[in-house]
Amino acid sequence: MTKYVFITGGVVSSLGKGIAAASLGLILKSRGFRVVNQKFDPYLNIDPGTMNPYQHGEVFVTDDGAETDLDLGHYERFTDENLSQSSNTTAGRVYLTILNREREGGFNGGTVQVIPNVTDEIRRRMLLPAQEKQVDFIITEIGGTVGDIESLPFLEAIRQIKYEVGVEHCVYIHLTLLPYMKKAQELKSKPTQHSVKELQGLGIQPDIIMLRSEIPIDSATREKLALFCNVRSDCIIENLNAKSIYEVPLMMEKEGLGRAVCRALNIEDSPSHLERWAAMVDQMYHPVRRITIALVGKYVELHDAYLSVVESLLHAGIHNKTEVIIDWIAAEELSDAESTARRLGGAAGIIVPGGFGGRGIEGMIRAAEYARTNGIPYFGICLGMQILVIEYARRVLGLERANSSEMDAAAPDAVIDLMPDQDGKILGGTLRLGKYECALVPGSISARAYGAQTVWERHRHRYEFNNSYRSRFEQNGLAVTGVNPERNLVEIVEVSGHPWMVGVQFHPEFKSRPDRAHPLFREFIGAAVHRAEEAR
Ligand code: GLN
Repeated sequence: MTKYVFITGGVVSSLGKGIAAASLGLILKSRGFRVVNQKFDPYLNIDPGTMNPYQHGEVFVTDDGAETDLDLGHYERFTDENLSQSSNTTAGRVYLTILNREREGGFNGGTVQVIPNVTDEIRRRMLLPAQEKQVDFIITEIGGTVGDIESLPFLEAIRQIKYEVGVEHCVYIHLTLLPYMKKAQELKSKPTQHSVKELQGLGIQPDIIMLRSEIPIDSATREKLALFCNVRSDCIIENLNAKSIYEVPLMMEKEGLGRAVCRALNIEDSPSHLERWAAMVDQMYHPVRRITIALVGKYVELHDAYLSVVESLLHAGIHNKTEVIIDWIAAEELSDAESTARRLGGAAGIIVPGGFGGRGIEGMIRAAEYARTNGIPYFGICLGMQILVIEYARRVLGLERANSSEMDAAAPDAVIDLMPDQDGKILGGTLRLGKYECALVPGSISARAYGAQTVWERHRHRYEFNNSYRSRFEQNGLAVTGVNPERNLVEIVEVSGHPWMVGVQFHPEFKSRPDRAHPLFREFIGAAVHRAEEAR
């Protein structure tokens, strides 16, 4: 019988609910349970695909091509379970479904209302994972904070679900902030009490309260919270600030989160197996060296816009026993050869991640040129691969106005271009999304890194390498080493004779795991370490 865990947040946002949900997933999985995480977001966008990265951070892409909230990246990295279209639902998606049905006459002339129609649709979606595969636990995170107007239908839905699936199969976890007042030298429980009261007013009694706190929670505060919030004192779980998010599951397990969840559901607890994870965290905390990687992008002010890339660099660092320091460089800063050399001179490797639109492109091209001509390891991801190709076309093939037609529709040499079958007009509808096959050329850097002939990687882009230039590139030292066999699309390019200059049209960062770094990130950091050691 599937068990349902609902995680809500209170007091303030940004408490790390996603990390808490992901940690619980890992903790339960390590006990041998089959788990799946999902997230419900109360905003009205259909998905975050068309949202500005500055607003929303990274768009995480699943195997089946869903454009989702970045918390899904945490879920996948912690639980090592691949998620799907049904794993992230927004209020917009719920309303779209209902309104389409209304237009088709699906309500037989009835009045369509938030309750029961919207809540029914939310509940239907919340239960979907159990229909898709056999799972023991569905962990559902509700975005936003209790008290938000837009969260109400979601909270009502999780209240109703308890009676739909049976009270003994449901557990509610509420995550709040326990502020520490320096002057009074006291942890303040009042905001949590208020938040729990708000939930109770909606008919939801939390079973477990998780508290973000700067300092350990004393027993008096625990007792007080237990008493006022109607929970057992061992269901008050402290969630201290961690040095790394990857330590959080270990801390939560020590605090008894897994035990509390099992007991609340009346299931026999079994020992967790987090040894491998703990070894990974230990290795992360004990690097033997440190290197700097320059990340050249257009949204660098908001690091969350590149969350999975950052995590993948960290994973590769763990594998290589190396602390990876990221030097965040706004592409526009690289305005000429001199500023480029000054900013990039100290980097052991250069990474140009994905992006949309023309801003900063010329700076990225300078970064690629600097990497190519100075033998610095370069990893181009999606836009970063297209940049590598454009730079190569301009400087090596001598096509001075080569560009992507995304940046310059009138470019005489559109070495990156739309495919003839794309009309490119409707945003959000014409991207190549999700996993596609990539056949690797034996002996290439990529084939050796993967140790495979065929791989599947996730995509999120509209433009492609223009095959009509392919033979000219190949004759001049840019090797095509990965191709999508179905449509003959170029997926990977490598600069011959360069220590490590690789561009990939896909997003390898979505498949990296802390204890299993993505092969290309792993080798990129390996090459950067080599470079740093040579320079010493
Ligand atoms: N803007 C480019 C394209 O659409 C690259 C996209 C990306 O980097 N995700 O093809």
